[in-house]
Amino acid sequence: MKTSPKPPAPIDPDRAWEQLVARQAGAPFFYAVLTTGVFCRPDCRSRRPLRQNVRFFATTAEAAAAGFRPCQRCKPTRPSTDLMARARAYLEAHADRTVPLAELARVTGLSPFTVQRLFKQAMGASPLQYQRALRAAGLRSALKTGSSVTDAIYNAGFNSSSRAYEGAQLGMTPARFASGGRGERIGYAAAPSPFGWMIVGATSRGICWLSLAADERQAVSSLRDEFPEAELHADTSLAGYVDAALQSVREGSDLAHSRKLDGALDLRGTVFQLRVWQALRHIPRGETRSYSQLARELGEPNATRAVARACATNRVAVLVPCHRVVGAAGSLTGYRWGVERKRQLLEAERDVG
Ligand SMILES: [Zn+2]
Repeated sequence: MKTSPKPPAPIDPDRAWEQLVARQAGAPFFYAVLTTGVFCRPDCRSRRPLRQNVRFFATTAEAAAAGFRPCQRCKPTRPSTDLMARARAYLEAHADRTVPLAELARVTGLSPFTVQRLFKQAMGASPLQYQRALRAAGLRSALKTGSSVTDAIYNAGFNSSSRAYEGAQLGMTPARFASGGRGERIGYAAAPSPFGWMIVGATSRGICWLSLAADERQAVSSLRDEFPEAELHADTSLAGYVDAALQSVREGSDLAHSRKLDGALDLRGTVFQLRVWQALRHIPRGETRSYSQLARELGEPNATRAVARACATNRVAVLVPCHRVVGAAGSLTGYRWGVERKRQLLEAERDVG
């Protein structure tokens, strides 16, 4: 277990005032205005109050307890996954150049290390990878002339934001995966499990494949079908991953959610796919989500079908738990490795959950 977060440092009113004047996003306080009775985020765009009328609070709860109402404009009580949403918006708004981590840190009021870590956690990609992906999506030139990402996406000929994300490739060499893994060496190990034969495939960067099949031969051919151009070789050192994956289902270690796994996966797909796969890893074991719930959680309420497609193209079963997504009425719908296996996995997780 992690230690609980540090209590916030006491607010230095002089420094906070400077940050308020600079409208510094992510500065560690909220401010209330005596004359309006409203409290705001430090970067609220409303008119700057007189300093004598301003009170600083570390949390929105304290501001509310002191009798202030949340501002309608900056909505300070809106949950603050928004720091990362803001970081993302900032990268999108500056997609015409490479934003250094230090700059993103300033924008969010976090350290470069923290912003890197939180961004990766929220987006499944580092800020740099995300920017590369945006550029690869061909949005760069459009963003240069347009003021908003939405405009740019339309100008670039996409008809919805999710399409644009779907088209934006992430990863070091995504084209290689697209071409059947040409030039890749993929090691694999397979073992029987209660859910069928499980096979794990890994590049030098991490696990790129985990599937379930009726027997060992089918397990290996599933890998070959996905990466027909790759050089495959048996690698017994990967057997530990098979065990760990099984254990996560049986004993509730919930490997999918483990941060240790971040570095152990070699997921490659579009920005949108990566976001969906990352979101899947945050569905707690024993629970399910519908495709439309997941779309809403991603802030793309109209992208239900794209979410379903991203789930269907997941290459790493169990560890990226696409089996935890079900139809609107709880129906099992499809599963790349068989609906019956999906049912078994969910049951196994419920039993130990
Ligand atoms: Zn405000």
